[in-house]
Amino acid sequence: MTTRIWHPFTQHGLGEPIPEIARAEGAVLYKTDGTPIIDAISSWWVQTHGHCHPDIVAAIQAQSAELDQMIFAGWTHGPAQHLAEGLGEFLPDSLDHIFFSDSGSTAVEVALKMALGFWHNQNIARRRILVMEHSYHGDTIGAMSIGARGVFNQAYAPLLFDVGTIPFPEASKEEDMAAALRAFCQDSDNPPAALIVEPLVLGAGGMKIYSPELLRQLHDICYEHDVLFIADEVMTGWGRTGTVFACEQAGISPDILCMAKGLTGGVIPLAVTAATKPIYDAHYSQDRSKMFFHSSSFTANPVACAAAGANLKIWREEPVQERIDAIIARHEAFAARLHNRSNISAVRQCGTILAFEIDDSSGDYMSSLGPELLRFFRERNVLLRPLGNTVYVMPPYCIRPEELDQVYSVIEEAIDHF
Ligand SMILES: *Cc1c(COP(=O)(O)O)cnc(C)c1O
Repeated sequence: MTTRIWHPFTQHGLGEPIPEIARAEGAVLYKTDGTPIIDAISSWWVQTHGHCHPDIVAAIQAQSAELDQMIFAGWTHGPAQHLAEGLGEFLPDSLDHIFFSDSGSTAVEVALKMALGFWHNQNIARRRILVMEHSYHGDTIGAMSIGARGVFNQAYAPLLFDVGTIPFPEASKEEDMAAALRAFCQDSDNPPAALIVEPLVLGAGGMKIYSPELLRQLHDICYEHDVLFIADEVMTGWGRTGTVFACEQAGISPDILCMAKGLTGGVIPLAVTAATKPIYDAHYSQDRSKMFFHSSSFTANPVACAAAGANLKIWREEPVQERIDAIIARHEAFAARLHNRSNISAVRQCGTILAFEIDDSSGDYMSSLGPELLRFFRERNVLLRPLGNTVYVMPPYCIRPEELDQVYSVIEEAIDHF
């Protein structure tokens, strides 16, 4: 079928079918003909409690009939205040200033602007942003600048700003990461403003996992050298890695933390950039030129804030952690089975995320295996979207054991087939 719609990350020229979904419930999407599709990647990493959770649906319905949208510059509303207070229970105490926006990319842009503003408003020349190799922070120009360069952003390369890149801590080369970070921190010609990292798991970069100890080391080196530490928890936040936020596992508290995807349970767009008092204070003044110059039309949309409020309530009142722990245990058992397979490698797990590579000589994102795997899974009614030859499972926490088993068995079938 031809369509007027231009889909994201879709090569329409290849004529791949674009299945239509009519409704969803729990971990299952239903096609227009009623066929159930198991959503094994949480609809692109956003859904946490499952589709159409009744409490989130009810919160959205009630709020949209009460106050739908309003300006947030110089005005406020209950759902945003309620949410900002509630987030205090889940975030480290020091992150006591909550700035709203509407996507992960924007939350990251806001974080970069806060970090640069922090130094600028104090007349301190620190401008360089440090990043980790293979990172992904979003698709806007600023977020692309701090992400891995490649075929995705080659056309825009001339517009992307320079950053300092530290190596990903590959096994037995962990010391290179720390050494590179120290060298950047001590570079007095171009002192860094901030380091931004995806804590514990580099998502779009291929589900690359590193330890809480290394995360802590990154944080501590930044702290020693007055370099701001920004945690991009857009994907890792809200339980993905086994704790509400990944930073908890390293016992660290970042200067700035970005969240989006799971903030509303993954139902409607909303993002938060949380910052410490010193960052806020650097913008707090009698001088209007020092205010934080960022907003978007839908900043702190009341309906989105109400959905996020319902998400917090679910975390407080439902056994979310038990559901996560059950997925972790099942992933571990499946990973043990995978270790015996010969044509796959690098089986790894962090919380509810399980990943491995299917051996492929051209093993990058553009490898032909990716689309073939996609088709294989689609034909078997499981939504999995490998990153090149990296297959990963990232289910919503409500997934049933038999649904997860079905995902595993389709994956084993794929391993036998390819
Ligand atoms: C998805 C993602 C983003 C971008 O979020 P959007 O809401 O898609 O703009 C940023 N950072 C990380 C780590 C992500 O996984």
